[in-house]
This record gives sequence, C-alpha cells and structure tokens, in this order.
Amino acid sequence: MTDDTRAEVLVIGAGVIGASIALEMARAGHDVLVLDRSSAAGTGSTSSSAAIVRVHAGDAHTSALSDDALTVWHDWAEFLDAGPGEHLARFRHSGSLLLDPGDGSLAQIERAMSEAGVGFERWSLEETETRFPYLDLHRFGPPGPIDDESFWEDPDEFLAGAVYTDQSGYVSDPALAAVNLLDAARRAGARVSMPAAVATVDVSADRVRGVTLADGRRILADTVVLAAGPHTARLLDPIGAADDFGVALLRVRTEEVHVLAPPGFDMTTQGVHLVDSDLNTNFRPEGADAFHGGSNQGVPEEQVLLDDPDDFHPVVSADGWERLTLRLARRIPELGIPRAKSGIVGIIDAAEDWVPIYDRTRYDGLFVAAGTSGSQFKVAPLVGAIMRHIVETTLDGGDHTSVPFRSPVSDRTYSTAMYSRLREPFVGLARL
Ligand SMILES: Cc1cc2nc3c(=O)[nH]c(=O)nc-3n(C[C@H](O)[C@H](O)[C@H](O)COP(=O)(O)OP(=O)(O)OC[C@H]3O[C@@H](n4cnc5c(N)ncnc54)[C@H](O)[C@@H]3O)c2cc1C
Repeated sequence: MTDDTRAEVLVIGAGVIGASIALEMARAGHDVLVLDRSSAAGTGSTSSSAAIVRVHAGDAHTSALSDDALTVWHDWAEFLDAGPGEHLARFRHSGSLLLDPGDGSLAQIERAMSEAGVGFERWSLEETETRFPYLDLHRFGPPGPIDDESFWEDPDEFLAGAVYTDQSGYVSDPALAAVNLLDAARRAGARVSMPAAVATVDVSADRVRGVTLADGRRILADTVVLAAGPHTARLLDPIGAADDFGVALLRVRTEEVHVLAPPGFDMTTQGVHLVDSDLNTNFRPEGADAFHGGSNQGVPEEQVLLDDPDDFHPVVSADGWERLTLRLARRIPELGIPRAKSGIVGIIDAAEDWVPIYDRTRYDGLFVAAGTSGSQFKVAPLVGAIMRHIVETTLDGGDHTSVPFRSPVSDRTYSTAMYSRLREPFVGLARL
C-alpha cells in the first residue's frame, strides 16, 4: 500500500511546470508525490495560456532554450513515452512574424537569436508585403488609447520591415500538455494526490519538513518544490521564504481574445503568429478560421495587477476587447470591426523583470519554480530537467548557479544564474 503521508520529493502544483518537474524527478528515480488543489492537471494558469512556442527572445539563453524545447514539442509522443492511442497535445506550425517599428527595438532580439545560433530571416518592407499582403504595414504606434482621436489618424510612415522565424508555432491544448506530462510522470512512478490544497509549507530550524493540507492532514518530505503558479507567493510569504528575493512576484490579470478571420481567409496557409510591438498586440492562428491573442505586455499602464489570484473578474472586459480587436483591425483592415465578444481571462504569474525564478529558497530542501512571466509554457518540458539540476546540485551541497545545466536534447549548456531568486531585476530585456 502506498503511504501518502510522506514522500522524498513533494511537488506542489500540477500545472505544466509542476507536471514537468514531477516527470523529470520521477524518471531520475526519486520518490515523488504531486499535490494540486484542483482535481485535474493543467487547470490553473496553464489552461488559459496562448501556448505559443516561439524562438525569439531578448536574450540568447532563452532563445536557445526555446529552440531546444521545440525539439521536444516535435517529438512529444517519444518524449512522453506515450502509449498507443493516448490523447496528446499537438504542436502546430505557424511561423512568427515580428513587425519592425524601426525604433531599434528588434535589434536586441536579432542579436540574441544570432548568438544562440537560432535561425531567422530579416525581411524588407516590400518582402513583408509580398508574403503577407493582407497586412497594413503603416506605422501606427506607439500604441495609444483607442478612444484617442490620434488612434484613427492615417499615418504617413511605414514599418521598417520584419523579422520572421519559420520554426515557431503553438500547442493546440495547453491543459492537455500538462495532463500528458503528469500521465508520463505516473508511468515513471510518481504518485499524485488531487484534489489536495496545501495550506502551509512547514519549516523548522531553517529546513523544510513537509506541508499541511487545508483539511489538516500533514505530509512529510525533505524536499518540497513549489510550482503553484500565481499562488506560489501565498505559500512563500507566511514563512518569510520570499524575504531574500531580489525580484518580486506579481499576478497580472490578462485578457486573451478570440477573433474570427475575414471570410474566405484560411489561417492554416495565410495565418502567422503576428508580433506587433507597434500596436502592442500578439496574435496567433487558432484553428483554420480565427486569431487568438492579447497584449504583449509592453505597456505598463495597460497591466492589471492583482493582490489575490482568486479574486478577479473572470470575463473579458468591453474595453479590453475593443482595444485588442481594433488594434488588430488596424493591422488587418479586412477584419472590419469584430462584434461578438469572445475570449478568456488568465492570471500571469510574473516576476517583476519578467524572467522566471527557478531556485532553492533560504530554507534547506525548499525549492521554487515560479514567476514564469507569461513565457514559460514553451520551455516547460525542459523546466523539469532544469529544476532537477537545481535540486540535485543543491542537495549534493553545491551551488547550482556555478554548475552548467546540460540540455537533454542538444549539446548546449546553460547557466541557471539567470533564474536566481537573489538577482537584481533585469532591466531592458525585450519582451515580445
Ligand atoms: C493568458 C496567458 C497567456 C500565456 N501565453 C503564453 C504563451 O503564448 N507562450 C508561453 O510560452 N507561455 C505563455 N504563458 C505562460 C505559461 O502559460 C505559464 O508560464 C505556465 O502555464 C505556468 O504554469 P505553472 O505550472 O507554473 O502554473 P499553473 O498552471 O497556474 O499551475 C499551478 C498549479 O498549482 C495549483 N495550486 C495553486 N495553489 C495550490 C495550493 N495551495 N495547493 C495545491 N495546489 C495549488 C493550481 O491548482 C495549479 O494547477 C501564458 C500565461 C497566461 C496566463
């Protein structure tokens, strides 16, 4: 009989990150128990993810890691060691088109991809127009409020072209990807207890001892990994575990809308993941006939920060819908003015510098994988291996930031120092 009152490694949270950690730790032979307050994997912020898998980033490390993660998404069934007939999430190719406003903002991203050895193409305005004739390539930005008259003015200036990455795409069903990872973790020997809401992380004498559940049950463990998404700070704060963090954890309410493509438009051949920093929008194809997307979080005054991740308006607002769809309609005039409001609201678990925190905490045995900042779905299958590196190096008495992490799918190595909880916040990293 299994004993669910103790485990060697407790993973709190069965989102795409926790499920990936559970898989990697179980495959490495650890005795793993996963707890989630929900009754199914992937129902937290993962379920509202746009699940875009893109290789462009503001730094070479992230661009290279995303490129490695693409290999895993392409070989998903093999990576999971999936059984025949298993219902699996699917990677769908779309390519990413980054419109260039001509303000130099794409230079950092091009440098990062070059340094990472990640392929991309630089297109002139004419080439962009030839490839995507339905786009209006005028320069509309910087993105202003849609009720400002200037929003409707016809600009004279044009964009400076675009950067295109053909390898990018998105995953059809992000919650299913978490379910797939958790099923694979079970096959590798992980135990799962759901629903099981953790009320407190139990610590004494500077080390973790386990957790207490909301129903009063205690579970003992020498190693606890917190991957509770936007709820992680709630578990860290009461025990002062975030007191030495150099970066704060934020919860950002985010609206993603679903917009029908113009009649006769085939997204599978004409669609693209459209990254428009000129209008602060980020849309990808959704099936054959729609766009799905939201803001690329480039305008701080448009961000809605939450204190309580369980207390938010769960429906897309009229303002948000109009702002996103009218900005998209400026870029794609054939879209007209979309009427039927449709979309979802998600909570982004962000670090203040929009770089995740994958690290130990000041308590021995307590680790954290949080602040995934609206960008870690794409690399989630590798985050398990990163956290395994961090946990095992730390438990062996080492400093994980000074031992390189070896990619399981390429000959690349990475430093985990970037993810340190103690870092000074990064300044000026491009986020598209
Ligand atoms: C709207 C939106 C769009 C995004 N778009 C993209 C994108 O296009 N590309 C990309 O790469 N990334 C994207 N992201 C980011 C990506 O989806 C997240 O980084 C990722 O899903 C986070 O997964 P997680 O497992 O950390 O969190 P979650 O999915 O939130 O999982 C945390 C789990 O912890 C559980 N939990 C919470 N509290 C407790 C508790 N006390 N006890 C037990 N269990 C608990 C929850 O039930 C939940 O299942 C987006 C995110 C959002 C919100």
